[in-house]
Amino acid sequence: MGSKHSKGTTSTSDPVPFESFRVPFSALQEATNNFNKNLLIGLGGFGMVYRGVLCDGTKVALKRHKLESSQGIEEFQTENKMLSQLRHPYLVSLIGYCDENNELILIYEYMENGNLSSHLYGSDLRLRSMSWEQRLEICIGAARGLHYLHTRGIIHRDVKSANILLDENFVAKVADFGLSKTRTVFDETHTNTGVKGSFGYLDPEYFKSVQLTEKSDVYSFGVVLCEVVCARPAIDQSLPREQINLADWAMNWQKKGQLKQITDPNLVGKIRSDSLRKFGETTAKCLAVSGVDRPSMGEVIWNLEYALHLQEPVIQENRTIPIGELLLQINDFSHVDASCSAAQIGTSNSYCDLSSDEVPSPR
Ligand code: ATP
Repeated sequence: MGSKHSKGTTSTSDPVPFESFRVPFSALQEATNNFNKNLLIGLGGFGMVYRGVLCDGTKVALKRHKLESSQGIEEFQTENKMLSQLRHPYLVSLIGYCDENNELILIYEYMENGNLSSHLYGSDLRLRSMSWEQRLEICIGAARGLHYLHTRGIIHRDVKSANILLDENFVAKVADFGLSKTRTVFDETHTNTGVKGSFGYLDPEYFKSVQLTEKSDVYSFGVVLCEVVCARPAIDQSLPREQINLADWAMNWQKKGQLKQITDPNLVGKIRSDSLRKFGETTAKCLAVSGVDRPSMGEVIWNLEYALHLQEPVIQENRTIPIGELLLQINDFSHVDASCSAAQIGTSNSYCDLSSDEVPSPR
């Protein structure tokens, strides 16, 4: 197989003709050693996921859905035509597809570090070592991916930590965008209901009204933010009743100004209180009961950048002081355009409080 079948890198900016995304089944057999079970990454709603290497060396993840008939192929192609045009550094790229031999296989760029949820509360304890800064960077990246989709009129509909994947450098990319709609063509269980999404992440307003807007993604993203700070799943049936639903439980603590009581034990003593406060406020806004009260993803990006900025110490006249204490007059930036970074605004304000007793060492 030539380079014809290995388009779809994140750097591609020109739309690639749809046909060039079609990959022969034989090339995928070769890439996966005939779908060797040792290369199986997992099982999702669409089917088995394998890792593989195309003949030009491109690492890929293959989602294999075995079709009993060719029904639905046309809808699948229409949908993928649109998805294949989407290119953004914070979206997992769709590299191609295969629809030969009653097979339907989607080919994505391979994300070396798997999904965010496994790094927050997966069974492999060695993965659970992400710093607060790293978590904020991941949230900002995912928010950027969603912002890109929203600015193109696309609503993800299944935002969750399992759909935020991490590359070899822990850069976050949003996966499965738009697929839930495509999936309904093949998945009887989804077609019976107008409401789509995952348990624990579903916007209650959308659930009642069945009117989908991008603010439903914002709500689900708010649940992801709760997962990031608490390092536990959105729903945990093994917990006492009031703790089962993470968003409800976390927001109870947030309302009391006590979010730090339920933060991931691995982060205790490592999050600056200003940064956590900004993060908690942003999360609460995302989880507002009414969609109109929730921020846009652009505003979310800005607020998360600010939370990251508050975490960073600055060095001034040989003294290191927390940036949060330099920014005494800044409270709410929800009116600020996302294209203007928090760092730019923060450094333009020079109100100093050097009386801090919370002086971190320089990094
Ligand atoms: P659902 O389909 O019900 O939403 P899911 O998101 O876990 O569940 P998949 O997206 O099919 O289902 O993913 C199955 C497994 O494959 C997960 O562990 C996921 O992290 C992994 N995976 C999916 N896409 C990639 C990719 N591009 N690179 C690396 N791993 C991936």
